Amino acid sequence: MFEMKNVSKVYRTELVETHALKSFNLSVNEGDFLSVTGPSGSGKTTFLNIAGLLETFSGGEYRLDGENVNGLNDNARSRIRNEKIGFIFQSFNLIPDLNLFDNVDVPLRYRKLKAPERKKRIEEALDLVGLASRMKHLPAQLSGGQQQRVAIARALAGAPRFLLADEPTGNLDSSMARAIMDLLIEINRDGTTIIMVTHDPELAKETHRNIYVRDGKVFETTENSIQQSSA
Ligand code: ADP
Ligand code: ADP
Repeated sequence: MFEMKNVSKVYRTELVETHALKSFNLSVNEGDFLSVTGPSGSGKTTFLNIAGLLETFSGGEYRLDGENVNGLNDNARSRIRNEKIGFIFQSFNLIPDLNLFDNVDVPLRYRKLKAPERKKRIEEALDLVGLASRMKHLPAQLSGGQQQRVAIARALAGAPRFLLADEPTGNLDSSMARAIMDLLIEINRDGTTIIMVTHDPELAKETHRNIYVRDGKVFETTENSIQQSSA
């Protein structure tokens, strides 16, 4: 459903050329939970942003559900992104002066959903992350872990098949990180395919498969067999 072949990405500024990805090869199946680790600057965020169609790439091929995304225009790319992909970020990226309900509503407004359908989805998503009772609160009234749960609700309200997470536990203490990881495991069991960049090797072990990225390439792939059936 998701396939990259020899994908490369070059960032050019006046003075330097950075080869952020070089011959990046990966395929991910429906239902996978993939973790991505590697040193700082190795290309993890670049990979994730290309996977999520936030960024274009310089060479190679990327197919999503069989569709070749090379050369699609911005409109086509946002359409695919809105239909299929949810994002969560290390820094939560909630809008500070919108309450939780309205924050989760933001991506739904981009879609042609009517207000009652949006309301239903928002309530369900906030319920899933355990924050339905705080709908009218502002992000600043919540802990970091709770804010990340709102961000997850926002990503899930659009019912994406793919959830792309860039260091989702990076700004959280270990107990909050644990709660977020448990939530991601549950979301994956419910059928959402997840790709998660993390610095935490212990969390990476709890995913189905880990790719270790080095120097813009998949350097090593580790299958984790233990994970899938534990309660
Ligand atoms: P990671 O997420 O593994 O830390 P990144 O994907 O952020 O790595 O970066 C890979 C390389 O690409 C780094 O050398 C980084 O400096 C460079 N890079 C990332 N984004 C840009 C950009 N917008 N412009 C120029 N260089 C960039
Ligand atoms: P970092 O990994 O440095 O903490 P973030 O996780 O906040 O940064 O963002 C990762 C990348 O996603 C950045 O390249 C940023 O431009 C992009 N990004 C952040 N927020 C959004 C958003 N709401 N929609 C689209 N792209 C975003």
